[in-house]
Amino acid sequence: MHFKLDNLVFVILIAACLGCSQSQDDLIANETNTAEWLAYGRTHSEQRFSPLDDIDTTTVSQLKVDWYLDLPNDVALVSTPLVVDGVLYFTGTMNRVRAVDATNGKMIWEFDPEVAKHVKDRKPGWTQSRGLSYYNGKIFLATWEGRLIAVDAKTGKQLWSALTIESGKKMSITGAPKAFAGKVLIGNGGSEATANRGYVTAYDAETGKLAWRFYIVPGNPADGFESDAMKMAAETWTGEWWKYGGGGNAWHGFTYDHELHTLYIGTGNGGPWNPKVRSEHGGDNLFLSSIVALNPDDGSYKWHYQTTPGDAWDYNSNMDIVLATLNIKGKATKVLMHAPKNGFFYVINRETGKFISAKPFAETTWATEIDSVTGIPKIAVNARYDSGSTYITPSPHGAHSWHAMSFNPSTGLAYIPTIHDAVVYTNDNVDFNSWKENPSKGGIAVSLRGADNMPRPYTGSLQAWNPVTQKQEWIVPLKELWNAGTLTTAGSLVFQGTADGKFHAYNAYTGKLLWTFDAGLGISAAPITYKINGKQYVALLVGWGGAFAGVGNKSLGWEYNKHMRRLLVFSLDGNATVPPQPPPYYPKPYVDKEFKIDPALADKGQRLYGNCSGCHGPGMVAMGMAPDLRASPIPLNIESFRQVVTQGVKANMGMPSFNEELTEDDLLALMHFIRKRAHDDADTSSGERVGH
Ligand code: CA
Repeated sequence: MHFKLDNLVFVILIAACLGCSQSQDDLIANETNTAEWLAYGRTHSEQRFSPLDDIDTTTVSQLKVDWYLDLPNDVALVSTPLVVDGVLYFTGTMNRVRAVDATNGKMIWEFDPEVAKHVKDRKPGWTQSRGLSYYNGKIFLATWEGRLIAVDAKTGKQLWSALTIESGKKMSITGAPKAFAGKVLIGNGGSEATANRGYVTAYDAETGKLAWRFYIVPGNPADGFESDAMKMAAETWTGEWWKYGGGGNAWHGFTYDHELHTLYIGTGNGGPWNPKVRSEHGGDNLFLSSIVALNPDDGSYKWHYQTTPGDAWDYNSNMDIVLATLNIKGKATKVLMHAPKNGFFYVINRETGKFISAKPFAETTWATEIDSVTGIPKIAVNARYDSGSTYITPSPHGAHSWHAMSFNPSTGLAYIPTIHDAVVYTNDNVDFNSWKENPSKGGIAVSLRGADNMPRPYTGSLQAWNPVTQKQEWIVPLKELWNAGTLTTAGSLVFQGTADGKFHAYNAYTGKLLWTFDAGLGISAAPITYKINGKQYVALLVGWGGAFAGVGNKSLGWEYNKHMRRLLVFSLDGNATVPPQPPPYYPKPYVDKEFKIDPALADKGQRLYGNCSGCHGPGMVAMGMAPDLRASPIPLNIESFRQVVTQGVKANMGMPSFNEELTEDDLLALMHFIRKRAHDDADTSSGERVGH
């Protein structure tokens, strides 16, 4: 009886699979579908390689703008578009999704998840998302405050919505969902915020019903563990880690392996960063800063590889996980490639989880090498700053961040947007008792200061890396550190946009620069390519964004209101004329001579300004993500200032209401601090900043 029933269920499952998920996965995984951009990294491999070759090393010099879409209501644009059945889908500011005709930009639909209405206490940087996922006629998006939403790809009508972060939790989503085999997966960020325990969740792609959840760090043993994997992980923690939450949040780096029906998750750093606080007697702290392989059907653990055991430097492993078959010691081997923040390039056997090799693609002072047999890093003396301050590179920006790495199977090279930066870590001025008394307060529990010497004369580079020999093939030095992700093609090309607003194409074999377009605004999104009616297009979103765009290089001059955010689409016979961008702009602080600055109020305002600096810039020098407050007319008047800061009239533009945090007196204090900064900066610099 049981035997028959089981067989029947089995037959139904097979039939259901053939009817939907299997064929859909073939569509996304099928490397012979050359025309479209079906998933975040084009296909499930996440290679960001396109087999299209009409645009190649000889024709690329003819590349011109075919059509463009001005996006005046957007600010930061960091997402990778999708192209499915002739429609280009992209997500912009405040998680608004547009579907446009991929041949001319004509709007088909727009979906607004109304983030401003849903956001409660999760605030800074809440405007941007890195992408979308397509599956079975649906587009999946994730919103900043934690919803995973399915909309009909044809109409843009919402089909379902699931809240993936409990209300009140200080977590948020900037990553693209990952749809595969009938499910859709999403994680979240927030390792540094209040006592968060990171996790990923998979939902049924059709219904939005929760399928499974995998926690990245173990909870309180007294509550029992969810799985043997959590029990194993708990052995690698010490002290009362669960009170701190542990972190490990997976905010980026989800790859589905169609060949092996396995899911790989890149996990985050620990919270707080200082391991002495988080896990006071040491320990590797699984599954922080790791690649974890999961069974996609039920989320059960398969294997893991930890890139940074006992992390002390914010070296999360949330960067792309790229799949390929490489010739390793004469044998075709299914591998995954990963270049996390810690500066080593990893090649891992994805069938077994076994370490193959790792070499530094940037300077690494925290570890001298990765043991070639065990895959365990040799941590440098005092790298964990136990006995005095120490110079560490990579910095917390990482040697590589979320800006996409690509891999070209023809050249055999990976193209990595690389950061060369250093910071001094120290326990000085860290009050360990305050974390003991209030473990859930969150934060980093370490002091950082700028390093006097940098690892290179340039802070950014594009480099081509050979994963088999683990050697750099070529490098292009870049002046700025926050450059965009890469695309590589069968036309032997690599495309990349840069922080200083240029869109470049290079010879993928040699690194020779072949073509440049000046977009006139910092580029933070990765380009894509697709072909419709015999014409190859290259598409790119232009809109300076990501964490560094709020706090980074003030000399770039990308202004919140002045520079047009755009979707640019190129082809070999393009003849569109794009209106020119204004030159880099440096706002002039407004000095109100009538305003009497009260020093005590200004001091108080300076302390409160910590709430604002992530977007309006440290030292109040804004960098394009938000207006420069010294030059804004709004803080000149208490009434207009109140409307924006505590009444939320600009919520739709990404300025949250601080109604619960700030009193009327706080508002006044902030006004005095803003006027003081405007006054001081006007005095010292005549209101002009030095350009680049
Ligand atoms: Ca982090």
